[in-house]
Amino acid sequence: MATSDQGRAGAAPQAGSGRFVCKFGGSSLSQASQFHKVRAIVEADDRRRIIVPSAPGKRDGGDTKITDLLYLCHHSASIGADFTAPFAAIVERFTGIERELGASPAIEERLESFRLELHSGVSADYAASRGEHFCGLLLANWLGAEFVEPAEAILITGKGLVDAGTWPLLGARLADPGKRYVVPGFYGRGADGEVRTFSRGGSDVTGAVAARAAKARLYENWTDVSGLLMADPRIVDAPRPMREVTYAEIRELAYMGASVLHEEAMAPVREAGIPINIRNTNAPEHPGTRIVSRLSAEEVASTKIAGIAGKSTFAMVTVSKNLMNREVGYVYRLLGVFEHRGIPFEHCPSSIDTVSVVLEANWLEGQVEEVLDEIRHSLEPDAVDYVPGIAMIAIVGEEMVHTPGIAAQVFTALAAAGINVRLINQGASELNIIVGVAPEDYAPAVRALYRAFVG
Ligand code: ASP
Repeated sequence: MATSDQGRAGAAPQAGSGRFVCKFGGSSLSQASQFHKVRAIVEADDRRRIIVPSAPGKRDGGDTKITDLLYLCHHSASIGADFTAPFAAIVERFTGIERELGASPAIEERLESFRLELHSGVSADYAASRGEHFCGLLLANWLGAEFVEPAEAILITGKGLVDAGTWPLLGARLADPGKRYVVPGFYGRGADGEVRTFSRGGSDVTGAVAARAAKARLYENWTDVSGLLMADPRIVDAPRPMREVTYAEIRELAYMGASVLHEEAMAPVREAGIPINIRNTNAPEHPGTRIVSRLSAEEVASTKIAGIAGKSTFAMVTVSKNLMNREVGYVYRLLGVFEHRGIPFEHCPSSIDTVSVVLEANWLEGQVEEVLDEIRHSLEPDAVDYVPGIAMIAIVGEEMVHTPGIAAQVFTALAAAGINVRLINQGASELNIIVGVAPEDYAPAVRALYRAFVG
């Protein structure tokens, strides 16, 4: 996919060609004033034709998301407990928005039928899906758009993933380029014909699914931040937003703890070569971050790295044995110890006579000694070393492979900050350099790296 014809990150969209899917998150639809912002955004560009809403989210810190209230009502109903209070909060929110907007999808009557359904017994997925369903009805009515029922057009597999049968089905449903559509997020129809949701945060997935089915030009994901940041703002003061980042870089950053989109939201658009633009409903003038297959020449020229992410929640088991390299299957057997306990590992750096397994520390909770004993028993190593806490930091960037001196810059920055590197791992893709440091060095290391690469 070429990015050049789509303009650089944030460039004003060119009128006239290809439709955009616009997914609006819960905070973008939390109250009537947010709906007004959404409308202004949708109407500012004629290509914004397919709108995917989440359920209303929190209005402020003390508030509860509609989806959480729905799960609560369902749980109470299922054990025969009273759910008057959370249900009233749902009714109040939806009718309040309806009233303020002057929309008329008869939300109160629909909610009353739903209340009766809750009493007679519905699935948790069905109950949770009503947040997006009612929000979609409101939005479609108010925008004068066509409402698309996801249970009739989005197929979800037994594992909760999108079924390929969705592409022609939803594609046909969204076929008219002259219409504006509203497709509620988060749910569709399961293999048993009943309403089924994606996992939490799944409206991102619906947005991607709609973009692919409609062969959209762009998937705009409107949220409450101006794009993705190059580092964790809890650690680095006011980190720079990314202008452009590739799908591959995003995968690496997300895997190392940077929270981005729903995990399953990337594949449908990535495969179809549709870029994603993360935008801020509260700052629509900000270009946000574009997620693309290949970086534009300008982006390549302007930044060496995409970002820095990490987690301080790892543990490490290191096994040493003289002449390990000559023993066929040694690492296989070591990983087998973790495999048969169902423990996933994250990294496996090795040297000639040692191999380490880095994994999320909580997987070993309550079974460290057992695991180490089994390793001693079945692998007869010279030594087994266990480090209960280690932080892993990934410096991620597609361009690193073409840029000499990145590793030197990483280690110089860490050395200058007096930080001892416990572990180094560079994937063969050369998309990242991962360093392991003591947990107490985690934040200072991220700051030192950010200073060195971004300034
Ligand atoms: N409303 C759903 C949730 O809270 C889905 C979403 O917002 O994406 O998980």
